[in-house]
Amino acid sequence: MTSPPPVEIEELFPELREHAATAIRLHPRPGEPGVDDSSVGGPLRWPAGEPWPYCTDQDHYVDQLLTPDTVRRTRRVYAAAKARATATGQKYTLTEAEQAEVPEFDYTEPLALAKQPIALVPVAQLYRHDVPDLDLGGPPDADLLQVLWCPLDHPDTGYQPRVELRWRRVADIHGQLDPAPEPVVVNENYLPTPCVVHPEPVREHQYADLLPENLKTRLYAWEKQSGHSYQNDFSLAPGWKVGGFANWSLSDWQPVDCTACGTPMTLLLTADSGARTGSQRWRATGESADAPMNPVDVLIGRGYALYVFACPTSAAHPAATAMQ
Ligand SMILES: [Zn+2]
Ligand SMILES: [Zn+2]
Repeated sequence: MTSPPPVEIEELFPELREHAATAIRLHPRPGEPGVDDSSVGGPLRWPAGEPWPYCTDQDHYVDQLLTPDTVRRTRRVYAAAKARATATGQKYTLTEAEQAEVPEFDYTEPLALAKQPIALVPVAQLYRHDVPDLDLGGPPDADLLQVLWCPLDHPDTGYQPRVELRWRRVADIHGQLDPAPEPVVVNENYLPTPCVVHPEPVREHQYADLLPENLKTRLYAWEKQSGHSYQNDFSLAPGWKVGGFANWSLSDWQPVDCTACGTPMTLLLTADSGARTGSQRWRATGESADAPMNPVDVLIGRGYALYVFACPTSAAHPAATAMQ
């Protein structure tokens, strides 16, 4: 779990308490989560009688399309080769048989397949009992949050996957949809590898640029004199998380208002391209040096994070995303 902060920054700057929030780091690790487990990329608890959601956009931006099976097979082949190299200390190479199992680097399924309805893929599901410290948003009696996305690029939302949210009451779910439909093709960067999660609450503080000017000035002066970094060590936890604050280093802050009602939206989930970015401060203690850098295998842009926002007014209003 996360190491303690090097200093108690709220004792040095008590006004930071007004700019603090609890985030739940998910610490995803490859595994075999079931529908009754909280997970990243794992199977969703889905009522037998409820249709699975599909994306019917006709203007997906497509460059390379693979089937989910090809993506999983390729990941298995590379993981086996990597494990072999680690175990033997030999150079990392694929055998001829393995080579035959992975597609050429520029191989693509026919691009026209992206015009078919694309089944959404599970991105995360969180049972309230696994994240009791957190307001998951949605209806007050919901005890399960599910996040899905269309695993292709959508030009109208900044070339990102399109996210859908579902809040449920577990007691209202009857039967289990099995099997869940799969998309015919995906952008491989948007197909999560199923991971179990190890939720851990941490204290975050607002992205530095969004703090009051006076506080920011004093923090910068303190940084110079102490050698600490507010942004790296006290502000935002890296990796997959629920709640907390967003980073705005790519675009500078932009309002995220609900397209249905105009209300400022709340950060719900962060899907990150890696878990081991950021400073030593956020490194999970006891983690082996060869733990995977990106266990979920999701890649957002060139290694960024996708922030998923929900409308606090209505669970029926669409989610929004920002890539940073
Ligand atoms: Zn789509
Ligand atoms: Zn709204």
